[in-house]
Amino acid sequence: MSDIYTSNLHVEKAESSKLKDVNFSDLAFGATFTDHMFVCDYIDGEWQQPKIMPYGPMSMEPSARVFHYGQAVFEGMKAYKDDNGDVFLFRPEENFNRINKSCARLAMPEFPKEYFFEGLKALINLDKDWIQPGVGNSLYVRPFAIATEPIISAAPSENYRFMIICSPVSPYYKGKVKVVIAEHFSRSADGGVGYAKAAGNYAAQFYPTKLAQEKGFQQIIWTDSSTHTYLEEAGTMNVFFRINDTLITAPTSDRILDGVTRKSVIQIAKDNGVAIEVRPIKVQEIVDASNNGTLREIFGTGTAAVISEISAFEYRDKVYELEDLGLDSYAAKLKQHMLNIQHNLGEDKHNWRYPVK
Ligand SMILES: *Cc1c(COP(=O)(O)O)cnc(C)c1O
Repeated sequence: MSDIYTSNLHVEKAESSKLKDVNFSDLAFGATFTDHMFVCDYIDGEWQQPKIMPYGPMSMEPSARVFHYGQAVFEGMKAYKDDNGDVFLFRPEENFNRINKSCARLAMPEFPKEYFFEGLKALINLDKDWIQPGVGNSLYVRPFAIATEPIISAAPSENYRFMIICSPVSPYYKGKVKVVIAEHFSRSADGGVGYAKAAGNYAAQFYPTKLAQEKGFQQIIWTDSSTHTYLEEAGTMNVFFRINDTLITAPTSDRILDGVTRKSVIQIAKDNGVAIEVRPIKVQEIVDASNNGTLREIFGTGTAAVISEISAFEYRDKVYELEDLGLDSYAAKLKQHMLNIQHNLGEDKHNWRYPVK
């Protein structure tokens, strides 16, 4: 075991690698983890020395506040390897800024930028053999923070743990999805935590999503919580609609998460002369567009799947189908464009690629 000290980071290497046991042709999303993890504790009002250590279970008191009050936030990002073996992240500053925005909303301390980037780079470098080259392959990187103080009174924790774990993933294609437009349940509300990547937001989605799945749909399109007349997000993704040749997506708000993929897709559309409107969009507008044949596409955007096409939606017990545009769809073209940038195969006009050295 070798211990390396850098300015801040303490690295304890795993004695052996689990890499040889991994079957890369059969990876379930997020179920396999690399050899190391990043850990940094917040105690007595300060972030302590950050560490990288072998990935593994950790012990915690059952009274840790995270288990009772859900004081927890997370991020999702990916690292890619090109054919030369160089490794890149995609817009990691966005994820860093967003986790601190989420922390602020959950009354958690913000994490220092130097610790984040030093830890992230060292961890990915240490485990870079886990990243397969090839379009669609990547390392899913999951930073998260939890309240660790062992006191069950309902108040923000004094102690926290910030961690990063990594999971190798293969091209993520589950086929097109059918969605139900929400008319009863809500994902988020004005003044709430919908714009934050709070762990509890996901827990709250599971039950309504399960009901949709029992009806033969895979996901829900969330609408505004007060009137259920505006379209907001699709499952855990931002959502875009194409009417004629114009793309439309809702503006971000308290209720809508500011997705990195969303803002990248908006920029790529603009760069390529695709008409794009960022404005509130009513359920009735897409029902009318479907009825008059101008609704061409609906797709979700997010780090895991990049772009996920929607083949049908249900609204008030009626199902509206979308035509399959194949590789001519905006969804397919925008996805290819994104993948080319991420995998260092295409021009990176806006400096979104972040080399990990
Ligand atoms: C994470 C997330 C997204 C997608 O964000 P990306 O930065 O594109 O991965 C969209 N909606 C919700 C609710 C999310 O939690």
